[in-house]
Amino acid sequence: MPPDAQGIPLPQAAAERVSLSAALAQGGGNFRGAYVHVPFCRHKCHYCDFYSFVDGDGRADAYVDRALAEMAAWKPLVNGSLRTLFVGGGTPTMLAPAQLGRLLGGLRTSFNWDEGAEWTVEANPETVTPEIAATLRAAGVTRVSMGAQSFQPRLLQALERHHDPASVVRAVRHLREAGIEQVNVDLIYAVPGGTIEEWNDDLRQALALQPDHVSCYGLMYESNTPLGQRHAKGQVASAPEELEVAMHHAACEALGAAGFEHYEISNWSLPGKRCRHNELYWRNEDWLTVGPSASGHASGLRWRNVPRLGDWLAEGPWAPVQDVERLNDDGQVGEAFMMGLRLIAGMPHDRVERLLARGTKGTVRRLAIARHTESGLLEHTPNALRLSQQGRLLASEVAIDLL
Ligand code: SF4
Repeated sequence: MPPDAQGIPLPQAAAERVSLSAALAQGGGNFRGAYVHVPFCRHKCHYCDFYSFVDGDGRADAYVDRALAEMAAWKPLVNGSLRTLFVGGGTPTMLAPAQLGRLLGGLRTSFNWDEGAEWTVEANPETVTPEIAATLRAAGVTRVSMGAQSFQPRLLQALERHHDPASVVRAVRHLREAGIEQVNVDLIYAVPGGTIEEWNDDLRQALALQPDHVSCYGLMYESNTPLGQRHAKGQVASAPEELEVAMHHAACEALGAAGFEHYEISNWSLPGKRCRHNELYWRNEDWLTVGPSASGHASGLRWRNVPRLGDWLAEGPWAPVQDVERLNDDGQVGEAFMMGLRLIAGMPHDRVERLLARGTKGTVRRLAIARHTESGLLEHTPNALRLSQQGRLLASEVAIDLL
């Protein structure tokens, strides 16, 4: 899967270390969503830094049993109903239909869900059979996010993706025939050796599938991945910066012309088809987590379940956690800027003013906003502060100054 909000780094400097159970006991969050991490993959792609692996030990049934126990532990802490679910990974559709059905059935009965709740499951094209599509539909899944990444066989090979472009078309057909309401297509650009012509063709082929939502991510070279390590040694060259910028603009143009709204730096949707679960991340709301390596958030408290299946299976019903942090006021403000500025509409001026009045860094942040406005990375619309078109490509530089 491409990078997503689960991969956003924590503003460490402003955090105070606490334990998850102690912190939740002090008053949990107002949970509005749930993230479930399924760590299994058919093959480990060399660019991927998500916790995922090929399981040679047949632990999928044990995983589902353990996940159901974790949901039961959460249940008394969730007041009210949840509005979004995101089952990611890994490749959730690697589970057998019966296992996937059991996992989703447990989620349905463990929590109360808003009427019209969004239920998203990530899928890889080669794993979507008619049986899997029917299982998703029967469980109430409303949205499937498909890791297509590219339609160019040689670029799929460069990414170490083992599916062929025809399997994406087939998988989307199975999903539509089963009655899945919304389909997202994930694409990766700036793959080494890729050309602008190939990228335009990727966009054209993605649009031909008539998706409801498209995500376009520039390839990242994470230091803990084989690709990142080869990149650091100079054995793999990134795409030239001008090409990466041109590819981002090509996505804006092609998707805009097809009626898609660009609503977040890497995300486009048809009207009314935004990913409501990811919006919850960008608005800094609270979500609970199930599964190894899943990261959660509750009223300024952030944590990550241990990223080791064996450790997670061995303990329970609560997941063993690491990186548990309660952000102080400055940390929460920094996080709100980091997430909120990812939205193309930006952050309403009154919210910005309220944030600047909190914590101890209001003056420093005000100066940073003035500096980035002067340099053209930030702009003020009548209603909001937002990244400029140029600023969207340098979002992390701006965010670091506002942390
Ligand atoms: S399929 Fe997705 S989650 Fe699995 S290894 Fe590849 S990129 Fe990572």
